[in-house]
Amino acid sequence: MNPVLKSCLFYGAGRVGQLPGFRTLFAGRAVIIVHHEIQRDCPSELMTGASVSLFEYSIKWLQREGWSIVSLDKCLQKLATNDRSRRYAVLTFDDGYRDNVSVALPVLERNNAPFMMYVPTGAPTRSMQSWWLGLRKLFLSRDKITIDALGRQFHCSTIRSKISAFDEVRRWVHQDYRRSAMLAPTFKQNGISLSALNDEYFLDERELRKLACHPLASIGGHTTSHPALATLDNSSARAELADNRSYLENLLQLPIRHVAYPFGTERACGRREERLANEVGFQSAVTTRQEQLHDKVNYFALPRIGVNSRSDFRARMSGIVEAAQALRKPKQGTTSGVLT
Ligand SMILES: [Zn+2]
Repeated sequence: MNPVLKSCLFYGAGRVGQLPGFRTLFAGRAVIIVHHEIQRDCPSELMTGASVSLFEYSIKWLQREGWSIVSLDKCLQKLATNDRSRRYAVLTFDDGYRDNVSVALPVLERNNAPFMMYVPTGAPTRSMQSWWLGLRKLFLSRDKITIDALGRQFHCSTIRSKISAFDEVRRWVHQDYRRSAMLAPTFKQNGISLSALNDEYFLDERELRKLACHPLASIGGHTTSHPALATLDNSSARAELADNRSYLENLLQLPIRHVAYPFGTERACGRREERLANEVGFQSAVTTRQEQLHDKVNYFALPRIGVNSRSDFRARMSGIVEAAQALRKPKQGTTSGVLT
């Protein structure tokens, strides 16, 4: 759909959706918000995260509209006891980015907002194949790029063209997650070290231990190497979940009760992953299917809503977008806008 038309529709839906009647009809009992990077300068990172102003806007909006921001544990407890006195919102961050502490944490503290950070082992240990960081670095550092695996050459000298090219390759990987390994030769040819990028962008073990002691913070699992679990055999998928849980529990000396499936899309996780997360001993698991939480809650496939723009966020929070999508595609969520 034309981006301007889409933006207008989301703006209108957000406004209409705030009318009390619509809100009573469509908004859920709770919502889990998903964030990745919170950036001070989004264009310089090819628009891959939320700006700090959008991030703070979303928190203020939730508070103003009567959503109570609580920890994931408290939210699940309220759902389990069928507490309908308030609507609850949970803030989550995936991957363990440094800017979640340097940029987002002061905002969270100012607003006394609890949060959950889902951490893959490979981020603090610097071993993760963070292909999305490698791709971003590639497009930021070169104007002429050849991706042999895709059979494409890109000429991009402006930020706008770099964003477009980066999105094209990223979407190509999301169509089949096994393609991510095919980017390794391109990174090597261009002198891009994923380990160095992990070091630059993700919290280290010492920083994670410190964060875990923060009164607003909870830490959850996000697998060992951040694969799309659905592409793995049973024992590998189980080990990804269980080993990451043991690693974090040893590192932080805390119980790790909750997990986020890497990528969280329908291609990346399904019924088998729900069963494995349950068997490994987690109490909940989140996806990136963009829905709110209503009366029927599957604790091992909890949906989450991303924050892409003010109008998109308001529209999704009103529940009206979800209601329209449910009419179009019964019982299917959408992962639009939430990629890693
Ligand atoms: Zn992730």
